[in-house]
Amino acid sequence: MSRFWSPVVHRLSPYVPGEQPKRDDLVKLNTNENPYGPSPRVRAAIAAAMDRLWLYPDPHATGLRQAIADRYGVAFDEVFVGNGSDEVLAHTFQALLNHDAPLLFPDITYGFYPVYCALYGIRYEEVPLDAAMKIEIADYRRRCSAILLPNPNAPTGIALPRAAIEALLAEHPDQLVVVDEAYVDFGAESAVPLVARHDNLLIVQTLSKSRGLAGLRVGFAIGQRPLIEALERVKDSFNSFPLDCLALAGATAAIEDDAWFRETRDRIIANRDALAHGLRELGFEVLPSLANFVFARHPRRRAAELLAALRERGVLVRHFKKPRIEDFLRITVGTEEQCNRVIELMRGLN
Ligand SMILES: *Cc1c(COP(=O)(O)O)cnc(C)c1O
Repeated sequence: MSRFWSPVVHRLSPYVPGEQPKRDDLVKLNTNENPYGPSPRVRAAIAAAMDRLWLYPDPHATGLRQAIADRYGVAFDEVFVGNGSDEVLAHTFQALLNHDAPLLFPDITYGFYPVYCALYGIRYEEVPLDAAMKIEIADYRRRCSAILLPNPNAPTGIALPRAAIEALLAEHPDQLVVVDEAYVDFGAESAVPLVARHDNLLIVQTLSKSRGLAGLRVGFAIGQRPLIEALERVKDSFNSFPLDCLALAGATAAIEDDAWFRETRDRIIANRDALAHGLRELGFEVLPSLANFVFARHPRRRAAELLAALRERGVLVRHFKKPRIEDFLRITVGTEEQCNRVIELMRGLN
């Protein structure tokens, strides 16, 4: 604390990301990274971009936005890119979610949302998940300015079908609905096809998970032009160059290599289903995940205890000390070998 702090700084309780250990002999299943990494084309594209480091990058990120537009079947100016989807979300909170009526999001969800609300002074209300830990769209029929949902939700991994998102959009024609699709590529239905018909839909995605590029920091949003324009106005009032030339080159190559994307995604889906099955055989309750992690609860052992035991044996997973989910562990889907290691260790601890 210092007398020089702006008042808002006193009120912040910053987001704490999962541990990034210095040792590399740990099996790292705590931050939903993709063990297969990015397309090999990313390395070549970044190497080529090294020759242009003395130039400012393209402030409009033209090549990357066009690649995303082509891949997702939307117009170039319906795409916004940022330094990780966290930055895209931050600009969304500031540009589109700060109104008199509260913003709604689930009570159990991505921990960054209340952090942005505190940063920008945004009123919000948390809507409880139902007894099965699912988002129930009927529960969002209340006074609000906007609704924000991850789909699949984090850290439960449970997804809503596209039809439910469409129903939500239809029920709230005068409220913005933001869908955070950080994990959508692992089996859920994206709402991107709804963008053309709904001016109140903004979708946020990331290259950190399904494209194996958490270290490069690239995320994007897709929505109708006026929504994208709001994000551009905030971005251009903050930083003209949130993506450096290496990130632009690497991200474009990643988006263009759809074969690598599909192959690695399919492997993760197979590993996830095997991990969930193995844990269920040991008696765990495993929520039905369509993400690259599983959320699992042992019938008798405390999650904090299992977390510590796994850590001692070199495996990092994530635990949230929060009501209703404090007995769960969130385990990132790693390689087949890493998932087998988790199952073997859990068998030993059972
Ligand atoms: C990982 C994650 C993000 C942020 O990803 P970036 O690495 O900042 O692109 C956003 N939302 C959810 C729900 C996430 O799990």
